[in-house]
Order: sequence, then structure tokens, then C-alpha cells
Amino acid sequence: MESMRLLKGATDVIDVREFYEKWDSSVMPYLGVDQTSQDAERDAIAKDMDVSIDTVMELNSVCGVETLKNGDEPPDMTLLKSFPDDVDLMAVKMQKHEMMKRNTSTQYKQFINKKMKYKTVQEKICNFSNLQNANLECKPSVPSENQVGHDVLIELSIHTATCMGASQNTQPKLGLDQRFQVLGSQHLTELRDKISCVNDLAISGDFSENPDDNSGFYAKDVYKSGFFYIEGVFYNDLREVDSRDYSSIIRRWATAEDRGIGPMTTKNMHNAIFLDLKVRLGQPYLYLHQGNCEHILIFNDIRLFHNDDIQDRREYPRLTFKRTYKRSICRVCEIHSSRWLTYGSEHAPDDPSFFCDQCFRTLHYDKDGKKLGNFKACKYFDKQAVL
Ligand SMILES: [Zn+2]
Ligand SMILES: [Zn+2]
Repeated sequence: MESMRLLKGATDVIDVREFYEKWDSSVMPYLGVDQTSQDAERDAIAKDMDVSIDTVMELNSVCGVETLKNGDEPPDMTLLKSFPDDVDLMAVKMQKHEMMKRNTSTQYKQFINKKMKYKTVQEKICNFSNLQNANLECKPSVPSENQVGHDVLIELSIHTATCMGASQNTQPKLGLDQRFQVLGSQHLTELRDKISCVNDLAISGDFSENPDDNSGFYAKDVYKSGFFYIEGVFYNDLREVDSRDYSSIIRRWATAEDRGIGPMTTKNMHNAIFLDLKVRLGQPYLYLHQGNCEHILIFNDIRLFHNDDIQDRREYPRLTFKRTYKRSICRVCEIHSSRWLTYGSEHAPDDPSFFCDQCFRTLHYDKDGKKLGNFKACKYFDKQAVL
């Protein structure tokens, strides 16, 4: 899209397949040789340095990573987890005291988590030591058909689009929501299926006449269409026979007058793999679904897949970060999470307003379960509940 506003710092267009082919052969010339990767790497180093293989092996034994260890490393290097008894430092004592306080008082732990600057980082997902352990654990058990092999690894992030800058001259403010690692050989649809959005779990319709009615369908099972817009191409998800091409109206609008936008083309999301893409790192693209639910998609990094990555193909697209949201609480008791969104309720301080299940039923129905008053009620899903 020629007139697309580029974000400050976005790179030039990168052809992912070209990147892969070019760098795969120049950075790792031994890849693809019918040898174990260690032997191949050793041979390649001997050739590059113009020395014998014996010399490379000797260098490896006297300069290898293992020689950096003294044999007395503590088993767990994670900060704030282990406290050596023989160290008499005030900082260590205070850390120990702090951790004991957090472990013994749930209230204090919650207070600290709320106050922490990086409270949105989910430790279980992106903790580096966990990643390393997971890597080591899954390496031996990955069946050969699920091992990744030569590939590129792409890191991308999904942002909420609600806080985009309104002015053409201001830099958009993007709220990071999720971050993924995907493989170059994976289809775009595989990523789409992993992106979570609270609107996918909405159940449309008024349930005020019968709040126990469970016949509704999730929006994601009814409205399955969606697209990614990347560098002038709409990648439409047309896996279902009744899927719609959401991009058609946009393309029609773009060509209707001399708007200076385009050219825009379309491709089937299911047929495209990430190696087929041409992207700019740092440039906001669009993921649209449910008719008008927009998410910003940004490619953050493209690199070759290596041994330190999780080797099991089934782990990808891999969620490495998910923002945690404050739950929406009931406007009446201000204790429980919201389960109902009401319109026109005479008991609500706002309109629309949120209720927990208990308050909703107590205020809006008599003892026989008969609806009181004229209002509409939708089932509400808290973003906190979406994983
Ligand atoms: Zn959405
Ligand atoms: Zn309540």
C-alpha cells in the first residue's frame, strides 16, 4: 500500500524466503550435510580456519564453554529463589525476609504483584530459565517427524488497536497484548487460530427472559471470517464455505476514487506460509475478525531457527507473552467478577452496566425466577478468563 503511513523505525521490506535462503547457506554452511551437526560444524570451522580437525578439537577442549565453569555452580541461579547460608550480607537477608513475607501472606503477595512495574509479564510463559528447561526437557523426547529442522523463527506481537493516536502527526500508542513465535514453514491460519480475543467468546443475544438458556453459540463458531493485512495483501481466511471476504468492501472503497491507495491484492490465508510474506519489521499491520474487531500485528524479529529454540514443531505458534488485564468486577457488590452486561437496568449505576451472577439474579428476578422490569442482558466474558 503505497500511501501507508510507516511507523518511525520500521525497516525496509524484507522478503522472508529470501532472508532464509540467503542466510541459511552463508551463516551455517554445514547445514544440510549428511553428518551430525556437531561433526559438520567442526569440519566447517577447520576449513574456515585452515587448520586440522585435531587442532579444532584441541581448541574446543581448552577454550570450550565448559572451561568457563568452576564445578561449583549453584543449581538454581534464579534471583530471589535461593539464599546461600554462608553469606552474611544485609541485601541477602532482606531478600530472604521479603520472600518469606510473600510466601506466607497471600494478601501481601497480591499487593506486591499489583505494585510491580512489570506485573503484566507472565512469568510462566516467558521466564528464561523455564524456556531453557522446557527446551532441555523436550529435546530428547521430540519424535523425529515433529522436529523443526531448518527454518526461520519469526517473533511478532498483537496489540490492541483502541489506543491508536488520533492525529496523523502523532506516533500511535500501541498496547501490547500478546506475543508469538512462529515458524517460517507454518500457515498464517495456524497463527490466527492461536490469537485470543474476548470477542470470540461473546454470545450474542438478549438472555434476560431466560438467563439459564445455554443454547447460544460462541461468536468465533458463528462468525469465522477474518483477514490479515500485510504489505498491500489481504490474507483472507476462507476455510469455511460460508466465509466472507471482509476485504472486498475496503478494496472497493480504495479503488472507487483517486485515493492514492494501493494496489491491494488478496490471497487465501490457508495457502500462505510465513516464508511467502514480505514484511517490514516494526510496521503495524492489521488482523481483523468478527466484522470489525481490529488488532494491530507487528513483526518484531526474523532470525534463523537454532538449537536453543524449542525443537518441537507442535509448540508453534508459541505464545511467549500475554498481557494480564484487571478483571471487570460487579458494579453492585464490587467483589465478584462480572458475568452479565445489562442495558436499561434500573438497578445499575451505569448503562450499560456489569453484574456478577449472584447480584444480577437477585436484583432482576423474583423468587420464582420471573423477570422484573424492562431490560436486556448479555452474557459477559472477562478478558482475564481468556487464555
Ligand atoms: Zn478481536
Ligand atoms: Zn455482585
